Amino acid sequence: MERLDAEKGMKQESAELLIEGAGKRFGEVAALDGVSLQVARGELLTILGPSGSGKTTLLKVVAGFEKPDTGSVKIDGVEITALPPARRDIGMVFQNYALFPHLTVERNVAFPLEMRNVAKPEIVRRVADALALVELAGYGQRLPRQLSGGQQQRVALARAIVFNPRLLLLDEPFGALDRKLRETMQLEVRRLQRRLGLTTIFITHDQEEALVLSDRIAVMNKGTIQQIATTTEIYERPANDFVADFVGESNIFHGAMSGPGTVALEGGRTLQVKSDKPAGAKVGVLMRPERFASGGANAFAGEVIEAVYLGTSFKLRLACEGGLELLVRQPARGALPAPGTRVAVGIDPDAIHVF
Ligand code: ATP
Repeated sequence: MERLDAEKGMKQESAELLIEGAGKRFGEVAALDGVSLQVARGELLTILGPSGSGKTTLLKVVAGFEKPDTGSVKIDGVEITALPPARRDIGMVFQNYALFPHLTVERNVAFPLEMRNVAKPEIVRRVADALALVELAGYGQRLPRQLSGGQQQRVALARAIVFNPRLLLLDEPFGALDRKLRETMQLEVRRLQRRLGLTTIFITHDQEEALVLSDRIAVMNKGTIQQIATTTEIYERPANDFVADFVGESNIFHGAMSGPGTVALEGGRTLQVKSDKPAGAKVGVLMRPERFASGGANAFAGEVIEAVYLGTSFKLRLACEGGLELLVRQPARGALPAPGTRVAVGIDPDAIHVF
């Protein structure tokens, strides 16, 4: 009940974000190389990419801590590229976003409101609402060091949303938390973000986190966006090698279309696929390890070279004819196949993604 009331008080007009052609160089390094993206009102977009791909730089450009060399940032159609950070109305949480250690939880959360000269009674009410939303009602008088890591990040989250920001930016906010807590926090952030309808950008290098949290994912590499799409689209239909390889486990091969629905792989093997690409087109094929079954239109026979037990599944590395190596996941039934065991698997054309 307390939380529902709090929610009503905090519902806001969240904004639409538009980044167009953002470029940023540091000497020889192009941290951002012409990045364009749009985040819809109330959407949670995750920026996923390896270390050094430009994620934090992109966030800093949105927040106003870095000025882009080229391009623009617009909130609800209004250009803010030159606006100082404090005037952008953006809430932020960083991995090690230290709370003020000498201030109570309440005072920490009140800080953005004090900066905005909000009236005292209003501050008291909104701080209470924000703390209720992150389920820390009753913790207001504690100091940060009297809280767990997860609770501290929840205070940081309360501080980021207390002033009804138009946009929420989260830069690896759970990076320092253990796995279990991280998973709990992911779900909590998602719930909060949905309920408040907050337009949010979440940065992570953890693909599982990205899949759990996002409406859409933007995969970044070397300062460029490789693909922006829904989570299922990114996983099932990656645009290129980088995305296919970075998100999830994969078997990626290259070849060319040799006829309707047929790919000739480098090395000679042919595969039946579902694709309307023209004959001769160079293609990549992606086969996810869990899409193999005991039979299928494309059959592979091979020898186990590595087998790992993963609780619910076996992960097998198979050396198949023609020098093809496959990563295959099978439901864990019976004994884990020993290296050297002969195994036959298959995959249907519609389980193969051609890009
Ligand atoms: P991580 O996941 O490790 O935080 P990231 O994807 O956030 O990485 P950025 O921090 O945006 O990557 O960095 C992108 C590139 O720009 C890197 O090569 C980095 O070394 C470089 N870079 C970032 N900030 C600066 C700076 N202030 N001065 C010089 N180079 C910088």
